[in-house]
Amino acid sequence: MSEVEKVIELAKRRGLFWPSYEIYGGVGGLYDIGPIGVRIKNKIVNLWRKYFVEDNKEFVVEVETPIITPYKVLEASGHVDNFTDPIVECTKCHRIYRADHLVEDVLKVNVERLSISELNQLIKEKNIKCPSCGGDLGDVRAFNLLFSTNIGPYSGSTGFLRPETAQGMFTSFRKVYEVSRERLPLGIAQVGRVARNEISPRQGLIRMREFTIMEVEFFFDPEDDEVPLYKFEEDEINIWRAEDKAKGEEKVIRFKVKELVSEKVVVNPWMAYWMATANRFVKALGISNTFFEEKLPQERAHYSRQTFDQIAVVKGERVEISGHAYRGDYDLSRHAKFSGQDLSVFKKYPEPRAVKRKAVIINKDKLNNESKEFVKEFMTKVANKSPEEIEQMLATGFTIDGKKVSDYVVVTEREEKETGKRFIPHVVEPSFGVERCLFLSVLNAYSEKKDRIVLSLPREVAPYEVAVFPLLERENLVRKAKEIYLKVREKFDAVYDDSGSIGRRYARVDEIGVPYAVTVDPQTLEDGTVTIRDRDTWKQVRVKEEKLTTALGKLFSGEPIEKVGEGS
Ligand code: AMP
Repeated sequence: MSEVEKVIELAKRRGLFWPSYEIYGGVGGLYDIGPIGVRIKNKIVNLWRKYFVEDNKEFVVEVETPIITPYKVLEASGHVDNFTDPIVECTKCHRIYRADHLVEDVLKVNVERLSISELNQLIKEKNIKCPSCGGDLGDVRAFNLLFSTNIGPYSGSTGFLRPETAQGMFTSFRKVYEVSRERLPLGIAQVGRVARNEISPRQGLIRMREFTIMEVEFFFDPEDDEVPLYKFEEDEINIWRAEDKAKGEEKVIRFKVKELVSEKVVVNPWMAYWMATANRFVKALGISNTFFEEKLPQERAHYSRQTFDQIAVVKGERVEISGHAYRGDYDLSRHAKFSGQDLSVFKKYPEPRAVKRKAVIINKDKLNNESKEFVKEFMTKVANKSPEEIEQMLATGFTIDGKKVSDYVVVTEREEKETGKRFIPHVVEPSFGVERCLFLSVLNAYSEKKDRIVLSLPREVAPYEVAVFPLLERENLVRKAKEIYLKVREKFDAVYDDSGSIGRRYARVDEIGVPYAVTVDPQTLEDGTVTIRDRDTWKQVRVKEEKLTTALGKLFSGEPIEKVGEGS
């Protein structure tokens, strides 16, 4: 069994996650998250909130918007036309494959985002056949990944399940901006379910058809380059740049965060800010081996000017854990166009600026003396033109009815004071899949020790921080253990367990990743001490009951277990 398979097996056995609707045979890409999985998942979401929302409270707010999305919104966003993957069907057994993945598997080359016709050509040229029956493959075509539905009882009101939360932030931008005191930068964060009709869902939680996403749409003024990168003074980030990728070189370079800007690795400093934040967040999940892979132009989504995928390398698996896209003003401009609403913001200059403006002045008295036909022609040919266009007409000596237009109109220049200007904010988007974080954290934490499984999850994402047990199911021990449990629970996320043998209870807490177990035994009743057992080393020490929470606090702040024991 591979380690991934072992983790899937453990997840099923211990209630982390399992395929949904199993009693009906299951559906690919749909998973239930079980009781322990939900605890870990909630902690991952809270940790993300800490890094992305709470630590940036001065400019990031969180919202919740619907999953059901009207047709028009995803038409404006480009998803109706572009949110597709290429598929190819076997003409003999009618199996359907994701065409790019099939070509990659057979030819061992990266063909991400090759066009449909390029993929078609490759399949024909290299004579690629159906891997299952050897039959001929048909033509490659685009398959749209949106799940569609009908909103209300009337047909014709098509809607979709959202494939990302982002559109909810774009469509509510103006409102959120207004209630956030009309200031930029403004990050709008959201955690929510999304659905993508993936062609080939993968094992585990890597590629699902419905999952939870954690996103920030970060709106800013592209002319404002004050970005608080000093927060990441010492942080370093691994980058695989597109220019090296294009040359076929797998060269991952380590940069200081501020170097990402000075070396022009990122197109905007806010990209560096959120990539650095993502780097810290993923480290907090316990995953330290990561790099950012810059996407080549043909690999990027339709809306993006620059994209990096954050790749987590866990147990030899390379998996995209987050995406970082510079979306420019694409989304707000498109929604402004499709909705007919103004989604620009007003930027006030520190001091009013003098600007020269051209103005068109029509000599109405003179025009009034002309015939109706002349005036009509003048109005259609001249009056609705811009000052620049009229200037050109005048320069060429344009006439109507043989009369020079310059006798009826002049273009002058006036100086005006401008207090500010309107512009469409630009957007940077960091986006994480929660279940991928869950899966990768668990895979990363998984190890085997003397035929036992240990999940060394960091405290922040462990389902519980401390477990409390009585050594035996004896009434006086159970009573004491429950009393201690209630005390521990005041300070820590604790769980009580008195079922099964002590060995099985230790195995259970190791397997679900609880960092410390406290055991109440007959000696506790004699001398008031309990044992603390460390999940990763299995070392045990005795501490006085009244010093237990202090000792646990010290352990969580990194003190070695030998140092917190009685007499040390
Ligand atoms: P994207 O919008 O495609 O850049 O996806 C953003 C993030 O969502 C990715 O970095 C993954 O962590 C996660 N993700 C994307 N697709 C899936 C999927 N089918 N199943 C689970 N997680 C996904």
